[in-house]
Amino acid sequence: MKLPGELIDVLRYVAEHNRWRKLECINLIASENAMSPLAEAAYLTDMMHRYAEGKPRKRYYQGTKYVDEIEILVSKLMGELLEVQFVEPRPISGTIANATAFRVLAAPGEKAVIAPVQAGAHVSHTKFGTLGALGIEHIELPYDQENMNVDVDKAIKVIEEVRPRFVVLGGSVYLFPHPVKELAEAAHSVDAKLVYDAAHVLGLIVGKRWRNPLKHGADIITSSTHKTFPGPQGGLIATNSEDLYKKVSKAVFPLFVSNHHLHRLPATAVTAIEMKYFGEAYADQIIRNAKRLAEKLHEYGFKVLGEHLGFTQSHQVVVDIKNFGGGAKVAKLLEEANIIVNKNLLPYDPPDAIKDPSGIRIGVQEMTRYGMKESEMDVIAEFFKKVLVDGKKPEEVRKEVIEFRKNYTEVKYTFDADLNLFEALFRIPMIIDLRF
Ligand SMILES: *Cc1c(COP(=O)(O)O)cnc(C)c1O
Repeated sequence: MKLPGELIDVLRYVAEHNRWRKLECINLIASENAMSPLAEAAYLTDMMHRYAEGKPRKRYYQGTKYVDEIEILVSKLMGELLEVQFVEPRPISGTIANATAFRVLAAPGEKAVIAPVQAGAHVSHTKFGTLGALGIEHIELPYDQENMNVDVDKAIKVIEEVRPRFVVLGGSVYLFPHPVKELAEAAHSVDAKLVYDAAHVLGLIVGKRWRNPLKHGADIITSSTHKTFPGPQGGLIATNSEDLYKKVSKAVFPLFVSNHHLHRLPATAVTAIEMKYFGEAYADQIIRNAKRLAEKLHEYGFKVLGEHLGFTQSHQVVVDIKNFGGGAKVAKLLEEANIIVNKNLLPYDPPDAIKDPSGIRIGVQEMTRYGMKESEMDVIAEFFKKVLVDGKKPEEVRKEVIEFRKNYTEVKYTFDADLNLFEALFRIPMIIDLRF
C-alpha cells in the first residue's frame, strides 16, 4: 500500500524537529537537556508497552521481573548519588512528585509557605497550580530584591506566624541557593516539614557543585530527572525518613500514577551511572560556562541580573532585555537565528506581564553536555550581540550558528560504547532505532 500522506507528514515533522533541535540549534532552555545515545537506547525498549502497578516484587501485574530489578536499581543509584536512604522513582514528572509530597504533608484547607514567585517558585507550588488543585493554601515568603533571594529574617517570622504544614524551597528561575538551613530550622520549630524542589539543580547536587539540601535540614526532595540531571523526562522523591517514604509510596500509586512510564527507568539508571562517573566534571563545567556567558553578555552591554553577586551560581543566566524590545520579541528574534531561549518574568515585573516580560532565562547545561566550554560561551555571547546589538539579520546569524553547532553534536560525559551494545552483549534485539 502506498504510504498515506498524513503518515509521511508525521515522520517528516519528527525528522525535521530532530535535525533542527538536535543538530542545528543552540539550545539554551534551562529546563531541558539531552540524553546520551546509551540512555536513548535503553529508553526505546518494550518496557514502554508494559504496566507494573505497585512496588517492585509486590506488583498487581505479572511479567514484571526485569522491571522490578531496574526500578530497585534506579532507587539504589539515585540514593547513592543523593546520599539519601529512600528514593521513590515512580512519579512520572516533577509536578507529580510535588503533588505526591504535598498530598502526604497537608490536607485540604491546610497551609503551605512557598518561595516567592519572583524567587523562582514553580507554578506547581502555587494555588494556581498543583497546590491549589489539592486545596492547600499558599503563603509566599518575603523576597529580598538586593540579594535576589528569600529574605531570611522576614521569612522566619512568616513561618512562625503562619505555622504551615510545610515550606517549599527550590525554583525554576534559580541563580543562587535558597537558605535551606535557616528555614528548615524555622519550619521544624513549628512542626512543619521542609520540601526542597530540586527539579532544576538535581544534576548540580549529584555533581557535588550545589549544596545537598538533605544535609542542611530538608526533610524531602522532589525533582524532575531531565533538567541539569540529563535523564529522560520523569520525576522522583527522596527522603531519609522511612515514615515519609512509606506515605509517599502509598500515595504516588494509586493517587497520581497508575502506569509509571516504565521505559524511563532504564534510561534513568544509565544516566545515574553516567553521573556517578562524570557528574562532578559535568556540573563543574556547567557552572563555569554559566558564569562565563553571563560575564561576556555583560561586557557586550546586556543587563545581566545578579552582577554584584557574581551573576550566577547555577546553570542559569537571567537577562533584563527590556531595552532590546522585551522578552517576547527578543526570544522570537533569537529563535530565528536558531538560538532557543524562553522569555521570563523578572523579580520586579508585575505578574500580569507574563505574555511580554522584561527578561529572558538562559541555561547552559545542554550545550555543556555537548562539550562546550568557556570559549564556546564567548562565541554564543557574540551571536547574541550580532542579533540584538549589531542588528544583523537573524537569518544571516542562523547560518553561522548552524556551522558552529556542527562541531558539537556528540554527547559528552558518557561512556564510549557501541550503540549495538545490547545486541552484542545479549544477542537479543533490544533497540528500536528511532533516532535520525
Ligand atoms: C520544571 C519544574 C517542575 C516540574 O517538572 P515537570 O517534570 O515538568 O513536571 C517542578 N518544580 C520546578 C522547580 C521546576 O522547575
